[in-house]
Amino acid sequence: MSHMLRVAGIVEESIVDGPGIRFVVFTQGCRHNCVGCHNRHTHPLNGGELISIEDIIRRVGENPLLDGVTLSGGEPFEQAEALSRLAMALKKQGHNIITYTGYTYQHIVDNSDKMAGWLALLQYTDILIDGPFEIEKKNLNLRFRGSENQRIIDVQKTLLNKKIALIDWD
Ligand code: SF4
Repeated sequence: MSHMLRVAGIVEESIVDGPGIRFVVFTQGCRHNCVGCHNRHTHPLNGGELISIEDIIRRVGENPLLDGVTLSGGEPFEQAEALSRLAMALKKQGHNIITYTGYTYQHIVDNSDKMAGWLALLQYTDILIDGPFEIEKKNLNLRFRGSENQRIIDVQKTLLNKKIALIDWD
């Protein structure tokens, strides 16, 4: 059975969505409505286009130059079930996964018992960049994120130690 994902776009080779050369899936659908969002076209939950995760897995597998895959948005956790399946398959291929979210890590953990796929997507994520874009904390010097409240979290270390493990990329 093929699993479909609603995407705003795909960039097959990016150097601005995490370290190295990354395949980026921009998911469609976001409810955060951050003031100053540059990606308003990604907000409608029924916009964008449908693509099968098998198609994405095949396209990633065809590029030996990739360092990893980034799940961005929109809000990836709107489609956590399909994305967790995708992330699981990509990790089997040896790719690391960066996931962006407008939710905080704690919000995801606290709601993971009632939101389908949230815990699985977190568990297949290596690095989570969390929190909404806050225009008053906007900083153009930050690497791979827009505002100072957004954290770069080593998810596996955080799950293991039950304590947020931050990564310093600046
Ligand atoms: S989470 Fe991202 S896509 Fe959604 S409103 Fe905020 S900045 Fe825009």
